[in-house]
Amino acid sequence: MKTFLCIGAHPDDIEFSCTATAYRLIQQGYKGRFVIMTNGENGFKADHVPREERVAIRKEEQMEVARLMGIDDVILLDYQDGFLQYTEELRRQITTIIKDHRPQIVFSFDPANQEFDDINLFHRDHRVAAQVVFDACFAAKNLWMYPGDSHRVSQLYFYGSNKPNHYEDITDLIDQKMEWLTCHKSQFPDVTKLERFIKDELSSGHPVYRYSEAFRVMPIRQIT
Ligand SMILES: [Zn+2]
Repeated sequence: MKTFLCIGAHPDDIEFSCTATAYRLIQQGYKGRFVIMTNGENGFKADHVPREERVAIRKEEQMEVARLMGIDDVILLDYQDGFLQYTEELRRQITTIIKDHRPQIVFSFDPANQEFDDINLFHRDHRVAAQVVFDACFAAKNLWMYPGDSHRVSQLYFYGSNKPNHYEDITDLIDQKMEWLTCHKSQFPDVTKLERFIKDELSSGHPVYRYSEAFRVMPIRQIT
C-alpha cells in the first residue's frame, strides 16, 4: 500500500504548503492522511469567540479540506495552539502514527530552518513540529525504541524550507489549492489578499513553472 502523511502544527499549515503535491499522489493511487498537532484555536481572526467554539470551527474547516481532497483520515492531536513543546509524549505519538500507517512519504516543516527571519514561518509550534517529525522518522525505523514493527519512511518532503531542492509544478491545481486553503474561513477575512500572497509570493519560486510548491526533499537511506 502506498501512503503518505502530511503533518502540520496547525489546521491550514498543510494547505499553505503541500496540498497540490499531496493531491497528485492521491491521483497516483496513494492513500493520504493528515496529522495536525494543535487545535489552531489562537489563530482565529474573529474576536469574542469562546475557546471551545474556536477549536470546533477549526476542526471542521480541516475536515472539510480532507473531504474535498479525498484524504483517508485526519488525526488531530489536540495540543494548545502556540504552546507546542518537544516532549517525549509527542515524539512517541508521531512515531506510533508512522509505525501504524507506514508511509513512504512524510510532509513536514523543515527543521533546518534556523534563520529566524520570518516570524510566521519560524514560530515556535512550527519549529517544534519540524524537530519532532524528523526525530520520529528516525525512531520509527528503529526496532527497539518504541513498540511496533519498525518502518523506514523513504522520503521526507520538508515544506516552508529556506533551502528547497525540489519544485512541483502545480499550475493546473492552483485553483483547487486556493479552494482548499479558503476552507479555513476563520483565518482569512480577506481572500483577495490571501490569493495574491499565494500566487505572487508563495507559489512563484520556480523560474519556469507558473505556480509551484517548493520542498527540501530528503531521502532516508538504509545504510546497513
Ligand atoms: Zn502554522
